[in-house]
Amino acid sequence: MDSRYDTMKYRRSGKSGLLLPEISLGLWHNFGGVDIYENYREILLTAFDKGITHFDLANNYGPPPGSAEENFGKILKKDLRSYRDELIISSKAGYRMWPGPYGEWGSRKYLISSCDQSLKRMKLDYVDIFYSHRPDPRTPLEETMGALDSIVRQGKAIYVGLSNYDPEQTRQATAILKELGTPCLIHQPKYSMLVRDPENGLLDVLKEKGIGCIPFSPLAQGLLTHKYLNGIPEDSRAAKSTGFLQKEEVTPETIQKIQKLNEVAQRRGQTLAQMAISWLLKDPRITSVLIGASRTSQLLDSLEALKNKEYSNEELVQIEQILNL
Ligand code: NDP
Repeated sequence: MDSRYDTMKYRRSGKSGLLLPEISLGLWHNFGGVDIYENYREILLTAFDKGITHFDLANNYGPPPGSAEENFGKILKKDLRSYRDELIISSKAGYRMWPGPYGEWGSRKYLISSCDQSLKRMKLDYVDIFYSHRPDPRTPLEETMGALDSIVRQGKAIYVGLSNYDPEQTRQATAILKELGTPCLIHQPKYSMLVRDPENGLLDVLKEKGIGCIPFSPLAQGLLTHKYLNGIPEDSRAAKSTGFLQKEEVTPETIQKIQKLNEVAQRRGQTLAQMAISWLLKDPRITSVLIGASRTSQLLDSLEALKNKEYSNEELVQIEQILNL
């Protein structure tokens, strides 16, 4: 599609050479063996047609684990083969993927084997970004970072990233990577209006070190949308047995906040999902917002967030007051 790059804006990941779309698409849910091929294929191809060049995966996405990478590989082969150089594809290793002592955490054995498995599942020669998915308290950081460096030197990844590392772990890990000659490109933390942890140090470290930031679960898995305003609908992540959002997280207090946030969004001429995304993008330290979608209409709704990223002081104060209720 010729208009693919007409409207999407791209931001530099930290001080690197890599530009990422302001919105990227994650395949954690909705792209697994339990999901419907035609539905997720449409989501993926629509995303690309709208200028979303970055797709985020991990070894364990599914369910079953591995199936999101396999399904993504099928679509790549069938529909996107000639576009490989227009795509930024990421994968990760860190959570449990196979039985025994080598199937999770941060050993060199696990990371390198898992990267090889991911490439096979996606039928790729390399990924663009390979992440350590979580810090491993029992493996020396030098070993985990050394494995990331080796993966790049073996030509299996172009860049490396960290996910779920706290500010101090990030500081240490990025120093090791820098010394190895494979600088950390990006950090992937959980960050949304409802989860503010990165504001306590992480964003400062990333800015100081010139590293990008791509928040995951920006909609708090769907809570920051109109979806749960009137209870838990049947076709929602919270209602599904395979979803990671628990029914218990949809508390009356959260619903009250969401209803009030929704009023602010309406005054801004946005849906709540759009406001949740643009609220993150108002911070120039954010490179891209990593969304999920269970249907194309959600993706199209979320993309409209990019039309209004300006916030008045009054709106920001109102939002803080609601979040502090
Ligand atoms: P979101 O917070 O964006 O939640 C996505 C869900 O919200 C959708 O599945 C859908 O729920 C609902 N939704 C999305 N858009 C709309 C809309 N416009 N209107 C109404 N509802 C909407 O992100 P995810 O939690 O899915 O995470 C995004 C990505 O981040 C993942 O795919 C993965 O790549 C990455 N991630 C990384 C982690 C890490 O440890 N590094 C951990 C978790 C995620 P429903 O299904 O109910 O329709």
